[in-house]
Amino acid sequence: MAIKYELIKECKQSGARLGRIQTPHGIIETPIFMPVGTQATVKAMTPEELKDIDAQIILSNTYHLYLRPGHRLVEKAGGLHKFMNWDRPILTDSGGFQVFSLGDLRKITEEGVEFRSHLDGSKHFLSPEKAIEIENALGADIIMAFDECAPYPAERSYVKNSLERTTRWAKRCKEAHSKPDQQALFGIIQGGMYKDLREQSAKEIIDLDFPGYAVGGLSVGEPKELMYEVLEYTTPLMPKDKPRYLMGVGSPDCLIEGAIRGIDMFDCVLPTRIARNGTAMTSLGKVVIKNAKYTEDFSPLDPNCSCNTCKNYSKAYLRHLYKAEEILSARLVTYHNLHFLIELMKNVREAIRQDRLLDYRKEFFEKYGYEI
Ligand SMILES: [Zn+2]
Repeated sequence: MAIKYELIKECKQSGARLGRIQTPHGIIETPIFMPVGTQATVKAMTPEELKDIDAQIILSNTYHLYLRPGHRLVEKAGGLHKFMNWDRPILTDSGGFQVFSLGDLRKITEEGVEFRSHLDGSKHFLSPEKAIEIENALGADIIMAFDECAPYPAERSYVKNSLERTTRWAKRCKEAHSKPDQQALFGIIQGGMYKDLREQSAKEIIDLDFPGYAVGGLSVGEPKELMYEVLEYTTPLMPKDKPRYLMGVGSPDCLIEGAIRGIDMFDCVLPTRIARNGTAMTSLGKVVIKNAKYTEDFSPLDPNCSCNTCKNYSKAYLRHLYKAEEILSARLVTYHNLHFLIELMKNVREAIRQDRLLDYRKEFFEKYGYEI
């Protein structure tokens, strides 16, 4: 087995779990937020900086690396860890989500998905076998099964067909996986916003026996309350002795609410993307750095933050960098945002340890505000 999950304790106040995942590249403490490094780089950050802020695992995207520079080149470099100089754990998605997001540029069949590259329009075919071949070549510690993520809203019959195909594809992924002792393949539970379909998918996927499971098909445009409701009836169906990953979720409220509902792993481009647009997540809520009110504000981005950005630079300076379109703006705000979410998850883990995650949620939102 490539990974080993240990459930350390459950929070007595909520459904949250404190755990640890042992991987070939080190230990991950859960619940955890995973910064996204789409193209084998977390945008604007060096791996050394990611270590400074204590990032334990990052995510990278199969679709993007397959198209450029190509998985065989990454393999030749010695795998993704060596290629990008990151010796801690990595998770790769299967490329399915990006391919399905291509809309008119793709065609789905039982065999797989034909699509055109968003880069040059060239034609490609991604199947469960091909996705796993790419992920095996990239060499991440945790790899994801090739699934179909149904859009929201979607008809029940569409979601049912799609989840059943996802099960058949999951089986094919498992059979195609050539390195189960080095890379843990996670199955993905689909089923949209339909309770019985989530139950069906959970049963089918868990029957295939993967070392970890993800909840897919959420954070696709549905109201947050609906996402929480789906989690409330989906996570109890998942085995307690395996890690649970909620895909594509990364706002502070969703991280806390997800952890409360028993999720262990999260990823999202949100903190890095909004950083490049000059928006910071802080303990006192969102700060939009371009706002005129910060012109002469020489205080740090977040008075309660210990990161290098907040220790050394003022809002006025960050606003100036943003207005002047200096690349340092993206670097400093990204650094802060990722530090903020990583610290948030440390606090969540500490709150679980002390059986007080619901109290922590209240304290957090009293300062952060409820507008996300
Ligand atoms: Zn900071």
